[in-house]
Amino acid sequence: MAPGGAGDTPEVALSGPSMTSRKSVTGGGKRDEELILPINSSLSVTLSQDQLKTTTTAAISTDFTEDRIWLNGREEDVGQPRLQACLREIRRLARKRRGAGDGDSPPLSLSYKVHVASVNNFPTAAGLASSAAGYACLAYALARVYRVEGDLSEVARRGSGSACRSLYGGFVEWQMGEQADGKDSIARQLAPEGHWPQLRVLVLVVSAERKPTGSTVGMQTSVETSALLKFRAESVVPARMREMARCIQDRDFQRFAQLTMKDSNQFHATCLDTFPPISYLNDTSRRIIQLVHAFNAYCGQTKVAYTFDAGPNAVVFTLEDTVAEFVAAVKHSFPPAANGDRFLKGLPVTPVPLSDELKAALAGDPTPGGVQYVIVTQVGPGPQVLDDPHAHLLGSDGLPKQAS
Ligand code: ADP
Repeated sequence: MAPGGAGDTPEVALSGPSMTSRKSVTGGGKRDEELILPINSSLSVTLSQDQLKTTTTAAISTDFTEDRIWLNGREEDVGQPRLQACLREIRRLARKRRGAGDGDSPPLSLSYKVHVASVNNFPTAAGLASSAAGYACLAYALARVYRVEGDLSEVARRGSGSACRSLYGGFVEWQMGEQADGKDSIARQLAPEGHWPQLRVLVLVVSAERKPTGSTVGMQTSVETSALLKFRAESVVPARMREMARCIQDRDFQRFAQLTMKDSNQFHATCLDTFPPISYLNDTSRRIIQLVHAFNAYCGQTKVAYTFDAGPNAVVFTLEDTVAEFVAAVKHSFPPAANGDRFLKGLPVTPVPLSDELKAALAGDPTPGGVQYVIVTQVGPGPQVLDDPHAHLLGSDGLPKQAS
Protein backbone atom coordinates (compact mmCIF):
# COMPACT_ATOMS: atom_id res chain seq x y z
CA MET A 1 0.00 0.00 0.00
CA ALA A 2 1.38 3.35 -0.98
CA PRO A 3 1.43 6.34 1.36
CA GLY A 4 -1.22 8.95 1.05
CA GLY A 5 -1.88 11.39 -1.72
CA ALA A 6 -4.11 14.29 -0.71
CA GLY A 7 -3.82 15.19 2.97
CA ASP A 8 -3.50 12.10 5.10
CA THR A 9 -5.13 9.94 2.49
CA PRO A 10 -4.20 6.31 2.35
CA GLU A 11 -4.36 5.41 -1.29
CA VAL A 12 -4.86 1.99 -2.70
CA ALA A 13 -5.03 0.63 -6.17
CA LEU A 14 -5.65 -2.94 -6.89
CA SER A 15 -6.34 -5.21 -9.66
CA GLY A 16 -9.74 -6.70 -9.31
CA PRO A 17 -10.73 -10.29 -9.19
CA SER A 18 -11.56 -10.23 -12.86
CA MET A 19 -14.92 -11.36 -13.93
CA THR A 20 -16.51 -14.32 -12.38
CA SER A 21 -17.97 -16.30 -15.14
CA ARG A 22 -21.29 -17.85 -14.44
CA LYS A 23 -20.60 -21.50 -14.43
CA SER A 24 -22.79 -24.35 -13.54
CA VAL A 25 -25.13 -23.80 -10.67
CA THR A 26 -25.66 -20.14 -10.32
CA GLY A 27 -27.66 -17.45 -8.65
CA GLY A 28 -31.07 -17.28 -10.16
CA GLY A 29 -32.75 -14.63 -8.09
CA LYS A 30 -32.92 -13.00 -4.71
CA ARG A 31 -35.00 -13.83 -1.66
CA ASP A 32 -34.25 -10.42 -0.18
CA GLU A 33 -33.58 -7.53 -2.54
CA GLU A 34 -32.47 -5.15 0.20
CA LEU A 35 -29.87 -7.46 1.74
CA ILE A 36 -29.21 -9.20 -1.62
CA LEU A 37 -29.86 -12.70 -0.38
CA PRO A 38 -30.22 -15.39 -3.04
CA ILE A 39 -32.89 -18.08 -3.41
CA ASN A 40 -30.22 -20.71 -4.03
CA SER A 41 -26.54 -21.28 -3.52
CA SER A 42 -24.27 -20.81 -6.53
CA LEU A 43 -20.82 -21.50 -7.85
CA SER A 44 -18.42 -19.68 -10.11
CA VAL A 45 -14.86 -19.58 -11.36
CA THR A 46 -12.76 -16.47 -10.90
CA LEU A 47 -10.81 -15.68 -14.05
CA SER A 48 -7.20 -14.62 -14.44
CA GLN A 49 -6.41 -10.93 -14.11
CA ASP A 50 -3.81 -11.30 -16.85
CA GLN A 51 -6.66 -11.10 -19.34
CA LEU A 52 -9.75 -9.66 -17.63
CA LYS A 53 -9.58 -7.30 -14.72
CA THR A 54 -11.01 -4.42 -12.79
CA THR A 55 -8.59 -1.92 -11.28
CA THR A 56 -9.84 0.29 -8.46
CA THR A 57 -8.25 3.05 -6.40
CA ALA A 58 -9.96 4.37 -3.26
CA ALA A 59 -8.78 7.29 -1.18
CA ILE A 60 -10.15 9.18 1.84
CA SER A 61 -9.19 12.66 2.90
CA THR A 62 -10.23 15.60 5.05
CA ASP A 63 -9.86 17.62 1.83
CA PHE A 64 -12.70 15.83 0.07
CA THR A 65 -16.08 17.50 0.41
CA GLU A 66 -18.22 14.66 -0.94
CA ASP A 67 -18.07 10.99 -1.87
CA ARG A 68 -17.31 10.66 -5.61
CA ILE A 69 -16.82 7.78 -8.04
CA TRP A 70 -15.42 7.59 -11.56
CA LEU A 71 -16.04 4.48 -13.64
CA ASN A 72 -14.04 3.96 -16.83
CA GLY A 73 -13.00 7.63 -16.72
CA ARG A 74 -16.48 9.10 -16.32
CA GLU A 75 -17.97 10.39 -13.09
CA GLU A 76 -20.99 8.34 -12.02
CA ASP A 77 -23.83 9.15 -9.67
CA VAL A 78 -22.53 8.27 -6.22
CA GLY A 79 -26.11 8.20 -4.95
CA GLN A 80 -26.85 4.85 -6.65
CA PRO A 81 -28.48 2.72 -3.94
CA ARG A 82 -26.08 -0.21 -4.34
CA LEU A 83 -23.02 1.94 -4.12
CA GLN A 84 -24.45 3.71 -1.10
CA ALA A 85 -25.20 0.35 0.51
CA CYS A 86 -21.54 -0.72 0.06
CA LEU A 87 -20.26 2.52 1.56
CA ARG A 88 -22.68 2.28 4.49
CA GLU A 89 -21.70 -1.31 5.14
CA ILE A 90 -17.92 -0.75 5.08
CA ARG A 91 -18.26 2.29 7.36
CA ARG A 92 -20.44 0.26 9.71
CA LEU A 93 -17.79 -2.48 9.89
CA ALA A 94 -15.04 0.10 10.42
CA ARG A 95 -17.04 1.73 13.21
CA LYS A 96 -17.67 -1.65 14.82
CA ARG A 97 -13.99 -2.44 14.71
CA ARG A 98 -12.97 0.87 16.21
CA GLY A 99 -15.65 0.42 18.85
CA ALA A 100 -14.01 -2.87 19.77
CA GLY A 101 -10.84 -0.88 20.45
CA ASP A 102 -7.86 -1.41 18.22
CA GLY A 103 -4.85 0.37 19.58
CA ASP A 104 -2.81 -0.14 16.42
CA SER A 105 -5.04 1.62 13.97
CA PRO A 106 -3.99 5.12 13.00
CA PRO A 107 -6.39 7.98 13.66
CA LEU A 108 -8.95 7.75 10.99
CA SER A 109 -12.14 9.69 10.78
CA LEU A 110 -15.12 7.82 9.46
CA SER A 111 -16.58 11.12 8.43
CA TYR A 112 -13.90 11.58 5.76
CA LYS A 113 -15.31 11.46 2.26
CA VAL A 114 -14.06 8.86 -0.20
CA HIS A 115 -13.00 9.15 -3.83
CA VAL A 116 -13.04 6.03 -5.99
CA ALA A 117 -11.79 5.50 -9.53
CA SER A 118 -12.27 2.20 -11.28
CA VAL A 119 -11.57 0.82 -14.73
CA ASN A 120 -12.66 -2.45 -16.32
CA ASN A 121 -10.46 -3.72 -19.16
CA PHE A 122 -13.43 -5.61 -20.61
CA PRO A 123 -16.96 -4.52 -21.63
CA THR A 124 -19.05 -3.08 -18.80
CA ALA A 125 -22.72 -4.08 -18.36
CA ALA A 126 -22.53 -6.48 -21.31
CA GLY A 127 -23.23 -9.69 -19.42
CA LEU A 128 -19.55 -10.34 -18.66
CA ALA A 129 -19.98 -9.84 -14.90
CA SER A 130 -18.38 -6.40 -14.61
CA SER A 131 -20.60 -5.79 -11.59
CA ALA A 132 -19.14 -8.83 -9.82
CA ALA A 133 -15.53 -7.84 -10.51
CA GLY A 134 -16.27 -4.16 -9.91
CA TYR A 135 -17.99 -4.46 -6.54
CA ALA A 136 -15.57 -7.12 -5.27
CA CYS A 137 -12.68 -4.84 -6.14
CA LEU A 138 -14.47 -1.88 -4.57
CA ALA A 139 -15.17 -3.77 -1.34
CA TYR A 140 -11.54 -4.86 -1.16
CA ALA A 141 -10.19 -1.36 -1.83
CA LEU A 142 -12.57 0.24 0.69
CA ALA A 143 -11.58 -2.36 3.28
CA ARG A 144 -7.95 -1.29 2.83
CA VAL A 145 -8.61 2.41 3.27
CA TYR A 146 -10.96 1.88 6.22
CA ARG A 147 -8.70 -0.81 7.72
CA VAL A 148 -11.41 -3.45 7.85
CA GLU A 149 -10.28 -7.06 7.99
CA GLY A 150 -12.10 -10.36 7.70
CA ASP A 151 -14.79 -11.58 5.35
CA LEU A 152 -16.09 -8.89 3.02
CA SER A 153 -18.96 -10.92 1.57
CA GLU A 154 -21.50 -8.61 3.19
CA VAL A 155 -19.97 -5.49 1.67
CA ALA A 156 -19.48 -6.85 -1.84
CA ARG A 157 -22.90 -8.53 -1.85
CA ARG A 158 -24.63 -5.19 -1.29
CA GLY A 159 -23.22 -4.00 -4.60
CA SER A 160 -23.85 -7.14 -6.60
CA GLY A 161 -24.67 -10.57 -5.21
CA SER A 162 -22.15 -12.41 -7.34
CA ALA A 163 -19.42 -9.99 -6.25
CA CYS A 164 -19.04 -11.91 -2.98
CA ARG A 165 -17.74 -14.88 -4.97
CA SER A 166 -15.22 -12.70 -6.80
CA LEU A 167 -13.55 -11.89 -3.47
CA TYR A 168 -11.84 -15.25 -3.75
CA GLY A 169 -9.78 -16.86 -6.47
CA GLY A 170 -10.27 -20.28 -7.98
CA PHE A 171 -13.57 -22.12 -7.62
CA VAL A 172 -15.95 -20.33 -5.32
CA GLU A 173 -19.29 -21.13 -3.77
CA TRP A 174 -21.82 -18.58 -2.49
CA GLN A 175 -23.72 -20.33 0.27
CA MET A 176 -27.24 -18.95 0.29
CA GLY A 177 -27.50 -19.19 4.08
CA GLU A 178 -30.67 -19.43 6.15
CA GLN A 179 -30.67 -16.46 8.48
CA ALA A 180 -33.01 -13.56 7.76
CA ASP A 181 -30.22 -11.04 8.41
CA GLY A 182 -27.97 -12.71 5.82
CA LYS A 183 -25.03 -13.18 8.17
CA ASP A 184 -24.54 -16.74 6.91
CA SER A 185 -24.90 -15.85 3.22
CA ILE A 186 -21.20 -15.86 2.42
CA ALA A 187 -18.68 -16.91 -0.20
CA ARG A 188 -16.28 -19.79 0.36
CA GLN A 189 -13.43 -21.05 -1.79
CA LEU A 190 -13.93 -24.66 -2.88
CA ALA A 191 -10.55 -25.03 -4.56
CA PRO A 192 -7.70 -22.59 -5.21
CA GLU A 193 -6.78 -21.28 -8.65
CA GLY A 194 -3.96 -23.78 -9.14
CA HIS A 195 -6.22 -26.76 -8.51
CA TRP A 196 -7.02 -27.58 -12.15
CA PRO A 197 -4.16 -26.16 -14.26
CA GLN A 198 -5.38 -27.66 -17.55
CA LEU A 199 -8.73 -25.88 -17.43
CA ARG A 200 -9.14 -23.08 -19.99
CA VAL A 201 -11.85 -20.49 -20.36
CA LEU A 202 -12.76 -18.87 -23.68
CA VAL A 203 -14.98 -15.80 -23.68
CA LEU A 204 -16.73 -15.54 -27.05
CA VAL A 205 -17.74 -11.90 -27.32
CA VAL A 206 -20.87 -11.70 -29.44
CA SER A 207 -21.82 -8.20 -28.38
CA ALA A 208 -19.96 -5.71 -26.21
CA GLU A 209 -23.05 -3.45 -26.05
CA ARG A 210 -24.73 -2.64 -22.74
CA LYS A 211 -27.51 -5.18 -22.31
CA PRO A 212 -31.11 -3.98 -22.54
CA THR A 213 -32.38 -5.73 -19.37
CA GLY A 214 -30.26 -5.21 -16.25
CA SER A 215 -29.70 -8.52 -14.47
CA THR A 216 -31.16 -7.28 -11.19
CA VAL A 217 -34.49 -6.14 -12.63
CA GLY A 218 -34.71 -9.29 -14.74
CA MET A 219 -34.06 -11.64 -11.84
CA GLN A 220 -36.61 -9.93 -9.63
CA THR A 221 -39.34 -10.43 -12.25
CA SER A 222 -38.28 -14.08 -12.53
CA VAL A 223 -38.59 -14.59 -8.77
CA GLU A 224 -42.06 -13.07 -8.86
CA THR A 225 -43.42 -14.90 -11.90
CA SER A 226 -41.50 -18.08 -12.78
CA ALA A 227 -42.70 -21.35 -11.24
CA LEU A 228 -39.77 -23.05 -12.98
CA LEU A 229 -37.30 -20.85 -11.12
CA LYS A 230 -38.84 -21.84 -7.79
CA PHE A 231 -38.68 -25.52 -8.74
CA ARG A 232 -35.09 -25.13 -9.91
CA ALA A 233 -33.98 -23.42 -6.71
CA GLU A 234 -35.65 -25.92 -4.41
CA SER A 235 -35.38 -29.21 -6.27
CA VAL A 236 -32.49 -29.02 -8.74
CA VAL A 237 -29.77 -26.69 -7.50
CA PRO A 238 -28.94 -28.30 -4.11
CA ALA A 239 -28.00 -31.67 -5.66
CA ARG A 240 -26.21 -29.96 -8.56
CA MET A 241 -24.12 -27.92 -6.17
CA ARG A 242 -22.96 -31.08 -4.44
CA GLU A 243 -22.20 -32.83 -7.70
CA MET A 244 -20.39 -29.83 -9.16
CA ALA A 245 -18.20 -29.58 -6.07
CA ARG A 246 -17.30 -33.24 -6.54
CA CYS A 247 -16.50 -32.74 -10.26
CA ILE A 248 -14.17 -29.89 -9.37
CA GLN A 249 -12.53 -31.86 -6.59
CA ASP A 250 -11.97 -34.85 -8.93
CA ARG A 251 -11.21 -32.70 -12.01
CA ASP A 252 -13.90 -34.68 -13.81
CA PHE A 253 -14.20 -32.58 -16.98
CA GLN A 254 -16.90 -34.59 -18.76
CA ARG A 255 -19.38 -34.37 -15.92
CA PHE A 256 -18.36 -30.81 -15.07
CA ALA A 257 -18.98 -29.79 -18.67
CA GLN A 258 -22.36 -31.52 -18.94
CA LEU A 259 -23.61 -30.01 -15.69
CA THR A 260 -22.40 -26.58 -16.74
CA MET A 261 -24.32 -26.69 -20.01
CA LYS A 262 -27.47 -28.13 -18.45
CA ASP A 263 -27.43 -25.48 -15.77
CA SER A 264 -26.97 -22.66 -18.24
CA ASN A 265 -29.82 -24.02 -20.34
CA GLN A 266 -32.08 -24.30 -17.32
CA PHE A 267 -31.27 -20.77 -16.22
CA HIS A 268 -32.26 -19.47 -19.66
CA ALA A 269 -35.39 -21.62 -19.54
CA THR A 270 -36.38 -19.76 -16.36
CA CYS A 271 -35.86 -16.51 -18.27
CA LEU A 272 -38.33 -17.67 -20.90
CA ASP A 273 -40.66 -18.80 -18.10
CA THR A 274 -40.55 -15.28 -16.64
CA PHE A 275 -43.57 -13.14 -17.49
CA PRO A 276 -43.10 -11.07 -19.56
CA PRO A 277 -40.30 -13.33 -20.84
CA ILE A 278 -36.66 -12.31 -20.82
CA SER A 279 -34.36 -13.30 -23.64
CA TYR A 280 -30.65 -12.88 -23.16
CA LEU A 281 -29.49 -15.24 -25.91
CA ASN A 282 -29.49 -14.22 -29.57
CA ASP A 283 -29.12 -16.17 -32.83
CA THR A 284 -25.33 -16.23 -32.52
CA SER A 285 -25.57 -17.57 -28.96
CA ARG A 286 -27.77 -20.39 -30.24
CA ARG A 287 -25.32 -21.10 -33.06
CA ILE A 288 -22.52 -21.36 -30.50
CA ILE A 289 -24.60 -23.88 -28.55
CA GLN A 290 -25.04 -25.94 -31.74
CA LEU A 291 -21.34 -25.65 -32.55
CA VAL A 292 -20.31 -26.97 -29.12
CA HIS A 293 -22.68 -29.93 -29.35
CA ALA A 294 -21.54 -30.72 -32.90
CA PHE A 295 -17.89 -30.48 -31.82
CA ASN A 296 -18.48 -32.82 -28.88
CA ALA A 297 -20.43 -35.29 -31.04
CA TYR A 298 -17.55 -35.33 -33.55
CA CYS A 299 -15.06 -35.99 -30.73
CA GLY A 300 -17.26 -38.75 -29.30
CA GLN A 301 -17.02 -37.18 -25.84
CA THR A 302 -17.76 -33.92 -24.05
CA LYS A 303 -14.64 -31.84 -24.63
CA VAL A 304 -16.18 -28.36 -24.56
CA ALA A 305 -18.94 -26.69 -22.51
CA TYR A 306 -20.77 -23.38 -22.88
CA THR A 307 -22.46 -21.24 -20.29
CA PHE A 308 -24.28 -17.94 -20.78
CA ASP A 309 -24.90 -15.29 -18.16
CA ALA A 310 -27.42 -12.48 -18.53
CA GLY A 311 -26.30 -11.63 -22.06
CA PRO A 312 -25.54 -13.18 -25.46
CA ASN A 313 -21.80 -13.72 -24.84
CA ALA A 314 -20.64 -17.28 -24.33
CA VAL A 315 -18.17 -18.49 -21.75
CA VAL A 316 -16.66 -21.75 -22.93
CA PHE A 317 -14.79 -24.23 -20.75
CA THR A 318 -12.38 -26.73 -22.20
CA LEU A 319 -9.02 -28.31 -21.44
CA GLU A 320 -5.68 -27.01 -22.67
CA ASP A 321 -5.27 -29.76 -25.30
CA THR A 322 -8.57 -28.90 -27.01
CA VAL A 323 -8.24 -25.10 -27.23
CA ALA A 324 -6.51 -24.89 -30.64
CA GLU A 325 -8.94 -27.19 -32.43
CA PHE A 326 -11.99 -25.55 -30.89
CA VAL A 327 -10.72 -22.07 -31.77
CA ALA A 328 -10.26 -23.28 -35.38
CA ALA A 329 -13.87 -24.50 -35.32
CA VAL A 330 -15.07 -21.12 -34.03
CA LYS A 331 -13.10 -19.32 -36.77
CA HIS A 332 -14.62 -21.64 -39.36
CA SER A 333 -18.19 -21.08 -38.14
CA PHE A 334 -17.78 -17.34 -37.47
CA PRO A 335 -15.15 -16.11 -39.95
CA PRO A 336 -13.58 -12.97 -38.45
CA ALA A 337 -14.73 -9.79 -40.18
CA ALA A 338 -12.12 -7.06 -40.64
CA ASN A 339 -10.16 -7.72 -37.47
CA GLY A 340 -8.67 -11.10 -38.33
CA ASP A 341 -5.44 -10.39 -36.48
CA ARG A 342 -7.24 -9.16 -33.37
CA PHE A 343 -9.80 -11.96 -33.26
CA LEU A 344 -7.88 -13.85 -30.59
CA LYS A 345 -6.87 -12.13 -27.36
CA GLY A 346 -5.26 -13.45 -24.21
CA LEU A 347 -3.29 -16.66 -23.93
CA PRO A 348 -1.49 -17.62 -27.14
CA VAL A 349 -3.06 -20.29 -29.34
CA THR A 350 -1.05 -22.11 -32.00
CA PRO A 351 -3.17 -22.26 -35.17
CA VAL A 352 -4.12 -25.75 -36.34
CA PRO A 353 -5.88 -26.75 -39.58
CA LEU A 354 -9.43 -28.00 -39.34
CA SER A 355 -9.99 -31.46 -40.79
CA ASP A 356 -12.56 -31.87 -43.57
CA GLU A 357 -14.43 -34.33 -41.37
CA LEU A 358 -14.79 -31.77 -38.57
CA LYS A 359 -15.79 -29.08 -41.07
CA ALA A 360 -18.52 -31.37 -42.37
CA ALA A 361 -19.62 -32.15 -38.81
CA LEU A 362 -20.05 -28.45 -38.03
CA ALA A 363 -23.29 -28.22 -39.96
CA GLY A 364 -24.72 -24.88 -41.09
CA ASP A 365 -23.40 -21.98 -43.11
CA PRO A 366 -20.65 -19.89 -41.57
CA THR A 367 -21.80 -16.56 -40.08
CA PRO A 368 -19.11 -13.96 -40.76
CA GLY A 369 -18.56 -11.58 -37.83
CA GLY A 370 -21.05 -13.38 -35.53
CA VAL A 371 -18.37 -13.65 -32.85
CA GLN A 372 -16.48 -10.35 -32.59
CA TYR A 373 -13.48 -11.71 -30.73
CA VAL A 374 -12.41 -14.46 -28.35
CA ILE A 375 -10.55 -13.97 -25.06
CA VAL A 376 -8.56 -17.03 -24.05
CA THR A 377 -7.94 -17.17 -20.33
CA GLN A 378 -7.81 -19.45 -17.29
CA VAL A 379 -8.71 -19.64 -13.63
CA GLY A 380 -7.18 -16.85 -11.54
CA PRO A 381 -6.69 -15.48 -8.03
CA GLY A 382 -8.82 -13.13 -5.92
CA PRO A 383 -8.11 -9.40 -5.41
CA GLN A 384 -4.51 -8.26 -5.41
CA VAL A 385 -3.03 -5.08 -3.99
CA LEU A 386 -1.04 -3.02 -6.49
CA ASP A 387 1.92 -1.49 -4.72
CA ASP A 388 3.18 0.42 -7.75
CA PRO A 389 2.00 4.05 -7.34
CA HIS A 390 2.00 4.42 -11.14
CA ALA A 391 -0.85 1.94 -11.27
CA HIS A 392 -3.03 4.08 -9.01
CA LEU A 393 -5.93 5.72 -10.78
CA LEU A 394 -6.22 8.79 -8.53
CA GLY A 395 -3.61 11.54 -8.53
CA SER A 396 -2.24 13.29 -5.46
CA ASP A 397 -5.12 15.78 -5.74
CA GLY A 398 -7.59 12.90 -5.32
CA LEU A 399 -8.90 13.22 -8.89
CA PRO A 400 -8.59 10.69 -11.71
CA LYS A 401 -5.11 11.04 -13.16
CA GLN A 402 -6.13 11.71 -16.74
CA ALA A 403 -8.57 14.44 -15.60
CA SER A 404 -6.23 16.15 -13.14
P1 ADP B 1 -22.56 -7.01 -15.94
O1 ADP B 1 -23.11 -8.15 -16.72
O2 ADP B 1 -21.36 -6.43 -16.63
O3 ADP B 1 -22.31 -7.34 -14.50
P2 ADP B 1 -24.71 -5.31 -14.90
O4 ADP B 1 -25.66 -4.44 -15.66
O5 ADP B 1 -25.28 -6.40 -14.07
O6 ADP B 1 -23.69 -5.88 -16.00
O7 ADP B 1 -23.79 -4.41 -13.99
C1 ADP B 1 -23.14 -3.28 -14.51
C2 ADP B 1 -23.06 -2.23 -13.42
O8 ADP B 1 -22.13 -2.65 -12.42
C3 ADP B 1 -22.53 -0.90 -13.91
O9 ADP B 1 -23.56 -0.11 -14.48
C4 ADP B 1 -22.00 -0.29 -12.59
O10 ADP B 1 -23.06 0.21 -11.81
C5 ADP B 1 -21.46 -1.53 -11.88
N1 ADP B 1 -20.02 -1.67 -12.16
C6 ADP B 1 -19.43 -2.23 -13.24
N2 ADP B 1 -18.09 -2.15 -13.16
C7 ADP B 1 -17.82 -1.51 -12.01
C8 ADP B 1 -16.60 -1.11 -11.36
N3 ADP B 1 -15.40 -1.38 -11.90
N4 ADP B 1 -16.68 -0.46 -10.18
C9 ADP B 1 -17.89 -0.22 -9.61
N5 ADP B 1 -19.07 -0.57 -10.16
C10 ADP B 1 -19.04 -1.21 -11.35
